[in-house]
Amino acid sequence: MAKKAKKADAQANVLPTQEILKKLFDLGYFGAKSWVDVQSLKGLQLIKAIKAFQAFHGLPTTGVVGPKTANNINKRRCGLPDFNITAANSAPCKWPMGSITYFHQMTLPGLTDAQVKEAYDIAFSQWAKVCDIAPVRVDGPTRANIYAKSGVGKANNLDDRGGTLAWSELPCGVAENVQLDQMFDEAEAWSFNMAVAVICHELGHALGLPHLGNGNLMAPYYDPNVTAPQKGDVKEIVKLYGKRTQPYAITQDASLQVGGTIVINGRPYVLVPKT
Ligand SMILES: [Zn+2]
Repeated sequence: MAKKAKKADAQANVLPTQEILKKLFDLGYFGAKSWVDVQSLKGLQLIKAIKAFQAFHGLPTTGVVGPKTANNINKRRCGLPDFNITAANSAPCKWPMGSITYFHQMTLPGLTDAQVKEAYDIAFSQWAKVCDIAPVRVDGPTRANIYAKSGVGKANNLDDRGGTLAWSELPCGVAENVQLDQMFDEAEAWSFNMAVAVICHELGHALGLPHLGNGNLMAPYYDPNVTAPQKGDVKEIVKLYGKRTQPYAITQDASLQVGGTIVINGRPYVLVPKT
């Protein structure tokens, strides 16, 4: 009887077992196991991993990859795994200072360079508005704590259009002079809102946050309706850097042609020229 049930489950998976294993392996569901070991997993161990994935993503924990779970597995998302992104580091995963410098050299198809710059500044300021950090844009990569680039394909730990959108390194045990890398996918068609959302998510990692549950900005999937830190995100970032005590104004270089106000998620953002 049990044997029969197991067989029925295996047949119900709408994706090939190897594809499921590879995805869940990439997303951290098999912990420290190597891909060689994971490849041969089946039966209960596979079901357990599928259930863990479903639980993390708020899906019914059936242990079977039906159309809904398959859709989740293949959704546009961050390239970092769901688990174990900070577990290997016993040192605190945060910057020791509040003044964090950043520089980006990236092309996001669909956006102008000025729009990318605006999106990046707005994304960072959304964190600075809720916790006690002071991001500083610098004019070259040398002094930047966070260096964001764009690229395509496997060499950059990215893929074709869809799937992985971006990734970021985490500041686990870093000193003030350390530089973290971020990578954004040039194979995607970017909108301004998508850029703000994805950059803000990756900056969450660069500030030390792991992935959080559904509804948060730090959920692994891109949700067009979530472009700024949500309640759960704010709670976690405040644990790392403390609450913001003074208002934080978005600063821009005066040389950048900005239209005064940008509306994101129905909220106006005033762009203040740097003095
Ligand atoms: Zn992520």
